[in-house]
Amino acid sequence: MSTGRCSICKEIKTVNRDRKTGSLVCRACYTRKRYHNSSFHKRCTRCGETRAVGKRDGEDKPICKVCCEKERKHNTSLHEKCFFCGNIKPVETRIESGPICCVCYNTQRRRYGIKTNRNKKHQDVAIMA
Ligand SMILES: [Zn+2]
Ligand SMILES: [Zn+2]
Ligand SMILES: [Zn+2]
Repeated sequence: MSTGRCSICKEIKTVNRDRKTGSLVCRACYTRKRYHNSSFHKRCTRCGETRAVGKRDGEDKPICKVCCEKERKHNTSLHEKCFFCGNIKPVETRIESGPICCVCYNTQRRRYGIKTNRNKKHQDVAIMA
């Protein structure tokens, strides 16, 4: 770990040297690269598909992004009261006032142009693609 110029985003950051290429890569770019690199993909313990790992379960077995998302939607203990409609639903995003469900997220976003971190993430992906 040292500070240097990332060979991918060209910013001065905490970087690691890529063992294969010998170039310096920051943590954000490394994670992104890993996400798109199928050699880092693991077989999901839930659906059996080989995909980018979303998280690990209690036994450190990989679970893909798709199953993570499903779990989040179905696991009612993760649901919260939506700031707009007041229904107990999966949280799509958060604003300063509170959590927002996916239905309200879509309508409010159009109406008020809510800018969220989630939105930003999507933009990053779009730029990468
Ligand atoms: Zn970088
Ligand atoms: Zn899966
Ligand atoms: Zn709502």
